[in-house]
Amino acid sequence: MLIRFFNSLGRKKEVFEPLEKDRVKIYSCGPTVYASPHIGNFRAFIFADLLRRSLEFLGFTVESVMNITDVGHLVSDSDSGEDKLEKGAAREGISPLAIARKYEKEFLDDLEKLNIEKPTYLPRASEHIAEQIELIKKLEKKGFTYETSDGIYFDTSKFENYGALSGQKIEDKEAGARVAVKSEKRNPADFALWKFCVGENENHILCWNFETGKQLSDKNLRSETETRKAKIGFPGWHIECSAMSMKYLGATFDIHTGGVDHIPVHHENEIAQSEAATDQRFVNFWLHNEFLTIDGGKMSKSLGNLFTIEDIKAKGIDPLAFRLFCFGTHYRQKLNFTWEALSSANNRLKRMRNDFAKKIGADTSQIFEITKNKSFETDLGNLARTYKLDFSSAISDDLNTPRALAILEEVLFGEGISQDEQRRLVREFDKVLGLNLDQPVVEEKIEPNQEQQKLLAERAAARAEKDFAKSDEIRAKFAEMGLEIEDAKSGKQIVKKKN
Ligand code: AMP
Ligand code: ZN
Repeated sequence: MLIRFFNSLGRKKEVFEPLEKDRVKIYSCGPTVYASPHIGNFRAFIFADLLRRSLEFLGFTVESVMNITDVGHLVSDSDSGEDKLEKGAAREGISPLAIARKYEKEFLDDLEKLNIEKPTYLPRASEHIAEQIELIKKLEKKGFTYETSDGIYFDTSKFENYGALSGQKIEDKEAGARVAVKSEKRNPADFALWKFCVGENENHILCWNFETGKQLSDKNLRSETETRKAKIGFPGWHIECSAMSMKYLGATFDIHTGGVDHIPVHHENEIAQSEAATDQRFVNFWLHNEFLTIDGGKMSKSLGNLFTIEDIKAKGIDPLAFRLFCFGTHYRQKLNFTWEALSSANNRLKRMRNDFAKKIGADTSQIFEITKNKSFETDLGNLARTYKLDFSSAISDDLNTPRALAILEEVLFGEGISQDEQRRLVREFDKVLGLNLDQPVVEEKIEPNQEQQKLLAERAAARAEKDFAKSDEIRAKFAEMGLEIEDAKSGKQIVKKKN
């Protein structure tokens, strides 16, 4: 079966074949660990996970890398402003590395909650400074760089193919254009490979000696002259992805992923600096996920519309419902987040799990044995084989998850294949989707706290007086807390987590 992916480089669907037979190498841009990752970031990571699982389903061995950015990502894409990690450190009164480790842990915990398989390698930028310096020195030798008073820059005019990914001409590049007037950049699109710890970065805590690669422990020990002489500084954001991807996957690898926001600057720059250094094609396929939006617009801290996996859990919603919610829309389309839509994904997930449980019967261990001992392909009937083929062709067609989900539900809810086939197909498809469909649905009863007990007593009184408006009002208050009230026949009010 042919696999087709939409390659951002060239902007069309192309037949995918890995460089090495049966083995696919993937690099995905990971999180900048300076604050809690939000569900928009997780759309990108769920997408990368889907890609990996799909390729494994289709018979490939996958080697994947996701970087952890713990130094060098400035608040502005135009190489100015504070480092996000240092900003986080100032906000919380702890060191930048303590910030990085704290939010890296949150990120890793969330990966687990979302059933995202850990990439083969998860390298940290701060632990690959030597590789980054080496790459910059290579570029210096080949004449692609120049120095300004605040850093070492890549000269984009020297790289012939600059702009190929985004389709922008160099003179149209917006990035950096506004600061170009006052900066010493030769071209607006030029970008920092290394920033010196001077000027607005004078107090940067994470600094390394560019000549020796050694990290500096005390910022007070260096004078500006010393700093300039030893080029004491820190890497620009883009160079880490080139250095680490090539270290783990080689000079040319199969697939690079990230959100669409990375196309015009970050990924364009990754291509330029990597190919300039190696004279080889950097990446064969560039796959980009569209944005998760809220109210049709961008999520942002200032608007207060950022949500985390914790927020989802606090509403009693299974984090895997967010996975299902993402798969309901193709990864190259914008996806608007609402709590209503997520809650209906949660119900859809429950329905699937309920149905699966019914089909499996009570004794799961026994059924597991039956499934385990049967090779997947053997003795599947014609219709079951067709379902499997349809599912494979849906994911081979640029990861068409809405279609894959429809096929899964047909298998789950439909008739015409045996229960054993249903069970085997669903388990197999779930290896791609990672929805834990064989997990039983447990209704979680809540022990009401004092305040909730008071509200329940008020509601009971209101109902006795047939004041249903008040009763509904109280029900709505519980709904806001992610809870629902069930009225038992005995008259008792049972509080449960809301579906
Ligand atoms: P960052 O931590 O900002 O470097 O982002 C990590 C990944 O999340 C990148 O691949 C971004 O492109 C992606 N990303 C950020 N915001 C969103 C969003 N709202 N929807 C989808 N992907 C996003
Ligand atoms: Zn990157």
